[in-house]
Amino acid sequence: RNDSSQSARMSVDKLLGGLLAPGFDERSCSSRYQSFLFRKTSPYKPSSYLLSKLRRYEDLHKRCGPHTKSYSKAFKRLKSSHGSGGGCKYLVWVPVNGLGNRMMSLVSTFLYALLTDRVLLVEFGNDMLRLFCEPFPNSSWILPKHFPIEGQFNSADLRHDRGYGNLLKSGITNNSTESLPSYVFLNLDHTKYDLDRLSFHCNQNPSLLRKVPWLFLISDQYFVPSFFLTSTFKQEMQRLFPEKETVFHHLARYLFHPSNEVWGLITRFYQAYLADADERIGLQIRIFNTTTSPVEIVLDQLLKCTQKENLLPRVDTKHPLATSTKTRRSKAILVTSLYTKFYENISNTYWAKPTVTGEVIRVYQPSHEESQRFGDNMHNIKAWAEMYLLSLSDVLVTSAWSTFGYVAQGLGGRKPWILYKADKGHTPNPSCVRDLSMEPCFHFPRTRDCKTKTKVNVGSLFPYLKYCEDLNWGVKLV
Ligand code: GDP
Repeated sequence: RNDSSQSARMSVDKLLGGLLAPGFDERSCSSRYQSFLFRKTSPYKPSSYLLSKLRRYEDLHKRCGPHTKSYSKAFKRLKSSHGSGGGCKYLVWVPVNGLGNRMMSLVSTFLYALLTDRVLLVEFGNDMLRLFCEPFPNSSWILPKHFPIEGQFNSADLRHDRGYGNLLKSGITNNSTESLPSYVFLNLDHTKYDLDRLSFHCNQNPSLLRKVPWLFLISDQYFVPSFFLTSTFKQEMQRLFPEKETVFHHLARYLFHPSNEVWGLITRFYQAYLADADERIGLQIRIFNTTTSPVEIVLDQLLKCTQKENLLPRVDTKHPLATSTKTRRSKAILVTSLYTKFYENISNTYWAKPTVTGEVIRVYQPSHEESQRFGDNMHNIKAWAEMYLLSLSDVLVTSAWSTFGYVAQGLGGRKPWILYKADKGHTPNPSCVRDLSMEPCFHFPRTRDCKTKTKVNVGSLFPYLKYCEDLNWGVKLV
């Protein structure tokens, strides 16, 4: 009967094609099983291999997560100075930089945990509380409070000292398990210090990394593409993701469920302003430096882009009233920016003149925080709500280099138009370009061959890895 096939379809949609495990308490995290009501069903299906890998991971996490016997054992080993022996192994994610950057590195870190059978734990500090629901059933991903070495997380010197690169330099070999430390830092954030990055991305001594019981990973990058660049993981990556450009799309929808507090912000805004529109257009305008990219220049660029690409309807400059009444279609424009200028200009334009198509235009902007803030929980809550709202757009315009935009495009499964970065006070020409895929860009891939140390063009090694449109030395999966 129709009813039963409809409800079967509902439950497939509700679990995002099998990506989500059933059985979570729905009230403590409404977004998890309600997100499908706000998005069209994704045309991208996760591979059955990915699904089985996730289910196995969930078992592992439940067995080894905080407050289990295995965890206590591993915790004791952390305090003893060497790390030999079996048992559960952990990968602790440590945050750095803005929320978009953090979500990039968190997805990459989770993938690394999947690939290496480690248990992912996260340190959310004080400014990432109340953002996300627990992603794994019957367990927690939060690193327990008062963790012994958390004092080292914020000190680059201490982290580098205990880093992978230094460990390799000190000459530890695979065989000397007695001298294996109980924990190692992987300093993969983008700074001048590149010892760990080089060793990690060239996968030097992978068996050492396999054995250490506790790994602490710091990164602000989407380093997923690097797993296609090492023979250790390449085959597995191909099995997990036969459609290469879906890595972030699937893993982010699996991991990132807005908390009830954030879900309230999202759904109230959506229902009040966006739900009834025939089309939703998201404009994400990120300015990294208002001296080299003045707001006026970026506004000019944005308008050029949306006109050239026919993303926003033109206004009728000759007639004060709409001449075409063929359509009463409505478009909702969602602007996200730290500033109000873009919103003001666009909403004034559509108030002052009718559209040539007769379409009704509404323009909204949830917040204008004026500047990026650090250590501010509410600031991150708003940022997360806005990234999510953007991801519900049918059409997306984003800003070059911005991981904030990457989150929206990846979650939403949208290939955005990217505004080129305005530089030296000039409007870029062309103003924008259609992205190659919905995947985030990995901003700093390695540029040299691991063995020969000669320069390589990583963006031309495989057909599925290309240099990014928004950053010509970055690479992305397509
Ligand atoms: P990126 O710097 O553009 O790659 O993105 P990040 O998310 O890593 O860092 C930028 C941070 O600035 C965000 O996390 C927010 O805290 C803030 N921010 C930037 N643009 C916006 C915006 O449009 N809305 C809100 N609410 N915050 C923003």
